[in-house]
Amino acid sequence: MKLLSYQSDTGPRVAGVRQGGPNGSPAYVDLNRADPRIPPSMRELLAQWPEGLSRAAAAVKAGRALPAAGLKLLAPVPDPQKVICVGLNYADHAKESGAAIPAEPVIFSKFPTAVSAHDALIVLPSVSKCVDYEAELVVVIGRGGRHIPRERALDHVAGYCPGHDVSARDWQMHKSAGQWLLGKTFDTFAPFGPYLTTTDEVPDPNALEIALRLNGQVMQHSSTRQFIFKVQDLVAYISDVFTLTPGDVIFTGTPPGVGFARKPPVYLKPGDVCEVEIEGLGVLRNPVVAE
Ligand code: ZN
Repeated sequence: MKLLSYQSDTGPRVAGVRQGGPNGSPAYVDLNRADPRIPPSMRELLAQWPEGLSRAAAAVKAGRALPAAGLKLLAPVPDPQKVICVGLNYADHAKESGAAIPAEPVIFSKFPTAVSAHDALIVLPSVSKCVDYEAELVVVIGRGGRHIPRERALDHVAGYCPGHDVSARDWQMHKSAGQWLLGKTFDTFAPFGPYLTTTDEVPDPNALEIALRLNGQVMQHSSTRQFIFKVQDLVAYISDVFTLTPGDVIFTGTPPGVGFARKPPVYLKPGDVCEVEIEGLGVLRNPVVAE
């Protein structure tokens, strides 16, 4: 099942996606209107995981389609409590960066204010000259928990989507403070979407093709088979430190081909269009503008 969040007059609401819209386009069904027992927001729905899944699936099939024209998509979870990121998680990207294969996951975060949607603008900050792209698989947590064992970790995942870990390299690497947070968390630097694909449609998240296109040109192309730490390793590892809650998102690292590692380097500029495509999960598209 594919689930998304959209902006209604009363705030963010959750919809399911099914085939059969006009001219071969998908149709969108507001789940709470189709079945009032389903909560209107994504985080509340994910809190009912996995029991809420079957009710949502029935509502997607039976509910009335929303008028597609003018539907404004939000990030599938517009208001995650945590945005967790993993650095250097592809063997081929670690090699490209000249970094050693890490023995334990490198974890950092973005603030929820960086979250952005499909088709929303990536805004290049006036205080950065080196904004780079990073295609990433995003994991969306369903049932929360602490000390989640690796063998049961995927049961706590609700679904997956394409994500983009936009990164200001000058703030991440060249400022004297030497930390990653600021370069990673400018507003609009965490787009993900367009929709969340539930785990029943993703047999193995650790075997998906992933690519990033910049103005139509393929800049990154790899597979999550290159993961140093698989999705279940990451969920188990970080939940030993803090409690995962429904709707938390994990950006799982990027494959090779990023701009700063190229000669000469490639950085985003106004007018660019970025597309992140992951096998079976759709295409996340974001135009780039200056602040
Ligand atoms: Zn990243």
